[in-house]
Amino acid sequence: MKQYIRILSFITLLLTSLGSFAQSQGDGWNCFAVLAGKATTIDNSVLLAHNEDDSGEQMINIYNVPANKEKGTNKYIWVEFPGMAVADGFLNEYGVAVVSDACNSREDREDFTDVGVLYQVRESVAKYAKSARHAVEIIGKIVTEKGYTGSGRTYVVADCNQGWVCSVVKGRHWIAQRVPDDMVMSIPNYYTIGEIDLSDTSNFLGSPDIISYAQERGWYNPEKDGKFIFKKVYSNPGTYSSYRNAFRHISAMNYITGENYTLNPDTYPFALKPNRKLGLDDMIQILSSHGENIPDNLIKERKTDSHNECICNDRTVCAAIFQLRNYIPVEIGAVMWATAASPCIEAFIPWYSGMTQSPDGFTRFSSAELAQERHFSDSKEKQKNYPNGIAWKFVNRLEWVLEDYPARIGKISATKNKIQKELFDNQQKFEEKIIKLFNSGSASSYKQIQAMLNKYTERCYNNYFKEF
Ligand SMILES: [Zn+2]
Repeated sequence: MKQYIRILSFITLLLTSLGSFAQSQGDGWNCFAVLAGKATTIDNSVLLAHNEDDSGEQMINIYNVPANKEKGTNKYIWVEFPGMAVADGFLNEYGVAVVSDACNSREDREDFTDVGVLYQVRESVAKYAKSARHAVEIIGKIVTEKGYTGSGRTYVVADCNQGWVCSVVKGRHWIAQRVPDDMVMSIPNYYTIGEIDLSDTSNFLGSPDIISYAQERGWYNPEKDGKFIFKKVYSNPGTYSSYRNAFRHISAMNYITGENYTLNPDTYPFALKPNRKLGLDDMIQILSSHGENIPDNLIKERKTDSHNECICNDRTVCAAIFQLRNYIPVEIGAVMWATAASPCIEAFIPWYSGMTQSPDGFTRFSSAELAQERHFSDSKEKQKNYPNGIAWKFVNRLEWVLEDYPARIGKISATKNKIQKELFDNQQKFEEKIIKLFNSGSASSYKQIQAMLNKYTERCYNNYFKEF
């Protein structure tokens, strides 16, 4: 009940204390990401957490795409939403994970080669990247060569050692910044990179003309504006001043540092030092939050009852936490904990990067190749055409909870928390078994490892649906 009251409070806050903040078309409240450097986490993992928010009929599929030696592509796990151009998430065999948040830019000119590039950006990361930095280089190269067709977007990429934030602008401009190991970055749907230094190539990569182009366009005048601040110069002004973005951002930053931030994104640092070490539970807290961390002085009245406009909301179709560890083999060191639907309703189930086969119901086609061919061409009336998808179990539960959220969330939440705890408790024992097999070093044990990883995820889901 307390949580529900906080939801009410948060929504009301959005509606009532807007100040100079605008609610504009396209200001964006789709997706949220958090990236914690490896020195900020309890187990020294890089943690990348992400909520994917989309409207309309969405059907989650998760494929294990095999490597293709002839084409030189990696093996990877592909979280697919049929028909969607910018919703899919990936984790490849090198432990490289990529997600993204829409970030509207102020660019109103088109500059593309052929049809430009959109969907292919992160698919290329999954297929070819061998590290997070390599992923950024791939994104930069594609955007520069082909031109990005969306208004703007920020890709968050991570591997078992480090994380990067890579913001692209419609056309051929982009900028990327490394997240320091001892810091945590969070991002709603606006650019967050501030001051840049392209001569510091261990921390920045980007278009060489990112500043001069802004000057040419009249977006930046060094004499009047002072230092070049990417987020201020390149953001769509409506997006940058959206209360929906700032409130979600504040909610995460407050949770990470315990400090209070005001409604002014100019003052938010790119990344923050957390006030304690963070773990998977903390990422779940952030992704499933309904405004709990908004300071009381910003919450004025309680009027509405929508489970919306928070980090976790009615449109959250998938949440994932990539736990990326460099001190055990990447096959188990890189794991995607994923929910289908809202993270306040569903537990996160592990998918190891070394696995080769998805459990039944997660793939609407028999091969990933066929799914890739038909990703856009076969995306209508999915529930009618593909009724056996496991996705509908999650969709149905979400719809049922939302019919009467206050009455139903309590029991649901208690059950999913209990299951989540068991899943976390079982992790170490399971991984120890796998590490023993790795240490034996034989080729046959590698096959056995893959089979065990496949079986583990399958068993987790079977148990989940038995209990839940
Ligand atoms: Zn929720």
